[in-house]
Amino acid sequence: MIKVEYLNKSFGNLHVLKNVSIEVKESEVVCLIGASGSGKSTLLRCLNFLEMKNDGRIMIGNEEIDPSTHNLNEVRQRVGMVFQHFNLFPHMTVVENVIEAPIQVKKVAKKEAILEARELLKKVGLEDKENVYPSKLSGGQKQRVAIARALAMKPDIMLFDEPTSALDPELVGEVLTTMKKLAEEGMTMVVVTHEMCFAREVGDWVVYMNDGKIVEVGRPDEIFTNPKEQRTRDFLNSVL
Ligand code: ADP
Ligand code: MG
Repeated sequence: MIKVEYLNKSFGNLHVLKNVSIEVKESEVVCLIGASGSGKSTLLRCLNFLEMKNDGRIMIGNEEIDPSTHNLNEVRQRVGMVFQHFNLFPHMTVVENVIEAPIQVKKVAKKEAILEARELLKKVGLEDKENVYPSKLSGGQKQRVAIARALAMKPDIMLFDEPTSALDPELVGEVLTTMKKLAEEGMTMVVVTHEMCFAREVGDWVVYMNDGKIVEVGRPDEIFTNPKEQRTRDFLNSVL
């Protein structure tokens, strides 16, 4: 689904991603862990072309995506993204948030978009919040709307950037449960997270990043019980 080879990204003199290579197969869940500032968000943003790589290759599906020739809006439709801070449209109700992109970007008929939105809101457990404005929702509910909104574009891949980091502890579980369900349905996912239990339970692979490089990739069991690299061990000791 995604293949990244020797990706490099700098902001001015700051070399943020250093020869990052990673592969995500269909229906796999890859959890990206690492200290703040290690380049996790930048990697996700490059995968969604919110940031442009400096060099390296990014393949989505079987295609290498070249920003100079590909329609990036089309690529972004295939790669959904959920952010730490929800980014809902505050002046729109829940259902309006979910139908906006399908109607505006994909030209789906409004009636059909609403029917699909209702299905998605049911999936994330918010069927009764259709006509509510985001300001009336808890953080966990907002994030579940954001997930429904991303799913409304029928992406092949979902990227999550610390989706529970801004939530009160008691609201984390409902969002993780929604993501777990999505994973069980076979969605291909890349999840930046500090929730080590989620990474362990739901991840097919865990990727540890440090200072713009991938230090170690492994199955959750290996990474959490017997990491190969000392740096991985030190990081896990500091967070677990
Ligand atoms: P993480 O998500 O792992 O915390 P980030 O990818 O957000 O790390 O950031 C990696 C490094 O890149 C940090 O040093 C950060 O300050 C820097 N950085 C991120 N985005 C930008 C930007 N738009 N302009 C300049 N520097 C940036
Ligand atoms: Mg980040």
